Amino acid sequence: MKLADIAGRFRIDKPDKFRLSDHDSKETCGLDIGKSNAKDMLADGLKRLEAVQEKLYAQDQWSVLIVLQAMDAAGKDGVIKHVMTAINPQGCEVHPFKQPSDEELSHNFLWRAGRRLPGRGRVGIFNRSYYEDVLVVRVHPEYLASAQIPENLLGANIWKQRFESIRNFERNLARNGTCVLKFFLNISRDEQRKRLLDRLNDPTKHWKFSAGDLAERKLWPKYMEAYEDAIRSTSTDDAPWYVVPGDHKWFSRLVVAAAVVDALERLKLEYPDAGDAARERINEARKALEAEK
Ligand code: AMP
Ligand code: MG
Repeated sequence: MKLADIAGRFRIDKPDKFRLSDHDSKETCGLDIGKSNAKDMLADGLKRLEAVQEKLYAQDQWSVLIVLQAMDAAGKDGVIKHVMTAINPQGCEVHPFKQPSDEELSHNFLWRAGRRLPGRGRVGIFNRSYYEDVLVVRVHPEYLASAQIPENLLGANIWKQRFESIRNFERNLARNGTCVLKFFLNISRDEQRKRLLDRLNDPTKHWKFSAGDLAERKLWPKYMEAYEDAIRSTSTDDAPWYVVPGDHKWFSRLVVAAAVVDALERLKLEYPDAGDAARERINEARKALEAEK
């Protein structure tokens, strides 16, 4: 199995047929992290990622936006740490999206994301994103009230309208040279229970626990409905979703690395050609330095 096959396997190419229940959170494509097949693939993925990011940065034309969404304890932080090991920190930025501030709430829901987009040559990682505004806000309609949107604009179509706004936002990014890749780390409810318990049993992980986590966990089915609808409605060629099996951390890291490598290698990035005039100057500079000896 190749990295590109893994990427393709979990990309949602037929959104109207998408059902979350068809996706197994325990899938590993027959790979085993205890065996070299998976370890070699992971190492290969990171090596290729490093090479392609270097070109991205040097060429300074495309940018990459990686959106990570998931329930608590699904492994977003781990994926970021892992993928980052292959990325030069100079060319990358990570932005977490928490509960919006008053200032953020006084603007439209895409505003705060728009200010944090990666510039050309750079990789931006959103740890949560504007998708929270069709996920947590959909599950908690009271959050919508705090956004002070004029009442006559809060019709039953609000989610459809937001999906449309998101598609347009992402299309605009794509048309201007941003490669948008979106990942839903799909863990089972049972796996989340185990991981939250692990957090409670490990004092060094207590800082990750928030009292709200259990309340959100109770709303699991509502979240899954919201995720399903969001993924169905916003999987596009411009900005595909990947539904990543999340129960095995090593496998979710492999899938994300595979998808990013695959997408970036398809851009056929090249180091910029210095041009004849610059080459001449480079030759002269080399001769001058060599003559110093
Ligand atoms: P964490 O990522 O676990 O640090 O938690 C961040 C929290 O902020 C999560 O519970 C998110 O659901 C919440 N959050 C992020 N964006 C929004 C939003 N637009 N409206 C309300 N809550 C949000
Ligand atoms: Mg949390």
